[in-house]
Amino acid sequence: MSRRFPWVLAPVPWSEETWFTRGTWLGKPLFSPRTADRSVLATKRQLRAKGLRPGGQDPCAFLVLRPRKAGKLVFANLYLIVKAKPVRPMTEARWAAHRKMMAARRTCRECGDLGWAELPKAHRTCEACLYTAGLDPDSYLHDYLAGQPTLSAAEHEALTEYPRLSTPDYALAG
Ligand SMILES: [Zn+2]
Repeated sequence: MSRRFPWVLAPVPWSEETWFTRGTWLGKPLFSPRTADRSVLATKRQLRAKGLRPGGQDPCAFLVLRPRKAGKLVFANLYLIVKAKPVRPMTEARWAAHRKMMAARRTCRECGDLGWAELPKAHRTCEACLYTAGLDPDSYLHDYLAGQPTLSAAEHEALTEYPRLSTPDYALAG
């Protein structure tokens, strides 16, 4: 990183002083980890930890990281703490909208059943409806269809008559 982003002592728009930077990225000052003053600049998550949000400001600088796991360079936005605004508190109406959104992710668009897990984003269709609608040639569900059925339809029906959990209250509210 040091060869690609050499140290540059440069003026920065938010301060009268010159700061040690790693050059610029997309026209804004670039910093490497532990070189940006944490009392002045913060990432979105660092703002959140202070109970703040960027509040519509554009990032004033960038942070370059090389996480071992990612195996590549990662750039993060840095925001000015003085321009940040406090996080808006959650009201009952905002919680209701949130619950509605989370329930919609678990609702099958074919049969309207509410499940326990989020359905695939591409179609939001439950597995039962996928069988009814006809499986995609490369659907993973074909893996479960190999071989001969061991139960008749009636036996299978009897087996699957487990008590269904009722829809939780939080999913119905809002
Ligand atoms: Zn369904």
